[in-house]
Amino acid sequence: KQTYKSDLEIAQSTELKHIKGIAQSVGISEDDLEMYGKYKAKLPLHLVNEEKIAQSTLILVTAMTPTPAGEGKTTTSIGLAEGLNKLGKQTTVVLREPSLGPVFGMKGGAAGGGYSQVVPMEDINLHFTGDFAAIEKANNLLAALIDNNIQTKTNNLGIDPRTVEWKRVMDMNDRGLRNIVTGMGGKSGGMMRETGFNITAASEIMAILCLAKDIDDLKQKIGNIYIGDTFDGKAVFARDLGAQGAMAALLKDAIKPNLVQTLEGNPAIIHGGPFANIAQGTNSIIATKMGMSLTPYVVTEAGFGADLGAEKFLNIKCGYAGFSPKAIVVVATVRALKYHGGQKLEDLKEKNTMHLVKGLVNLEKHLENVKLYGVQPVVSVNRFSSDSDEEIEIVKERCAELGVKVAVSEGWEHGGEGTTQLAEEVLKAVEECTQPFKPVYDWNWSVEDKIEAVARKVYGAREVEFLPKAKQNLKKIARIGLSDKPICIAKTQNSLSDDPHELGRPQNFTLTVREIEIAAGAGFCIPITGNMLRMPGLPAVPAAIDMDIDNNGKISGLS
Ligand code: ADP
Ligand code: MG
Repeated sequence: KQTYKSDLEIAQSTELKHIKGIAQSVGISEDDLEMYGKYKAKLPLHLVNEEKIAQSTLILVTAMTPTPAGEGKTTTSIGLAEGLNKLGKQTTVVLREPSLGPVFGMKGGAAGGGYSQVVPMEDINLHFTGDFAAIEKANNLLAALIDNNIQTKTNNLGIDPRTVEWKRVMDMNDRGLRNIVTGMGGKSGGMMRETGFNITAASEIMAILCLAKDIDDLKQKIGNIYIGDTFDGKAVFARDLGAQGAMAALLKDAIKPNLVQTLEGNPAIIHGGPFANIAQGTNSIIATKMGMSLTPYVVTEAGFGADLGAEKFLNIKCGYAGFSPKAIVVVATVRALKYHGGQKLEDLKEKNTMHLVKGLVNLEKHLENVKLYGVQPVVSVNRFSSDSDEEIEIVKERCAELGVKVAVSEGWEHGGEGTTQLAEEVLKAVEECTQPFKPVYDWNWSVEDKIEAVARKVYGAREVEFLPKAKQNLKKIARIGLSDKPICIAKTQNSLSDDPHELGRPQNFTLTVREIEIAAGAGFCIPITGNMLRMPGLPAVPAAIDMDIDNNGKISGLS
């Protein structure tokens, strides 16, 4: 049986080009590079060029409903960018920055896999250029200012400590901090109150940084953050504390996109990493714009399945940025299809055409959804070594029956050589795309109508139920002036419905909205279905315990 090198071994055995060379290949002079060592650089915002953006083609990578392991969107995005470059179409891949939570927890790194990776892999996965740390500091400055305002008489806004929803953040899976009490130690220790920590990727500052157009816009959005209420029931915002200037100053470098390279020496931009459930789950608008300013093609990824990632990418990010992708790649795997057809998680490597055929309904629903937006889907079958030819053939045949473009992607095993067919299919879809995408809702609709539109059209729900707390929240949303903004539904990634155990294509279900949170700074509200953890915990056997570094600084065990 064939043995494969680990992602880290492949990354470490690749000779990297100096970042100056990568920059030069896309027309950036050395003068414009803010270098972080030899292989990473920040790009100044003046390189964003609206004329070039208008000429550039944006390609979105999304997926069918994933298994808990992830179906390979990042791997496919990087592989596709290599394939397009191989065909002579200059392409930048634009991705999110990994969070340390999953790196040390269950999932491992997020810099691609096999021969489709971005490098330096260890740096990208291990706090990179410090953007997350800056976001943490900005977030926690606001927390400190809130508690200080409650404590002191000068400029006291009369904030009711019981209403403060702003939490501190840290980029770590640390469940012990999820719920805490602060302000102990008597009068000089502040006002005692119940609060907690979120993981940095779940901070509204992260969502804001990724939607901001420039520093002025960043400041304005930060100022709009809703903090809590006064004792008289008046809403308090970050601007009422005068927090936005200092917070934006802390983000002066974090707002700049990071340039790195793929294994084949093509440009990659890695920037921002908002959660894909309670936020928009995709890299920053500035990073996407930067990529489109540099090369005529950009491949980018949105987190989780197309019901979450692609929906939010289109209705929130594209709505704010004015982008429109010319093709949407839907990653499918034989293992996920079998999973949705009833195969057990531990048996996914075993051939089973019956379960595979049964599971195709999940992929079909996602393809219908992509067509709903008026964009051509291209199915990319991310090939695993355990897949049989017969199983792959079945997927291809069904796509052909549906009139959907399909290609097998072997980027994981072969890099760009393994994705040229996919790249060709994507280019055909781009060619046939003549119109901007159609959103599934209009921002001006009522919040309830927007939620119903996504639930019915995208998830396939029969109806939406609003629990009493959600109904109460709607009034507050109207009061704060968020009613005409997009919605960012928090839902399980494991099912098209709000029940993680409903696999395949759930029908006739009711989507239950428990409450609706406010992200007034980011500019959306968050209808919550199910339980959302903003501070995850580590698993019994965390990935961290396999990691090591030797005396030469060489890292091992990072997956
Ligand atoms: P996603 O972005 O959808 O979460 P990733 O691209 O990060 O998924 O891939 C998840 C994991 O699966 C990674 O560890 C990656 O190395 C691995 N992987 C992806 N594609 C393949 C493949 N074709 N064969 C084997 N492993 C793969
Ligand atoms: Mg990914």
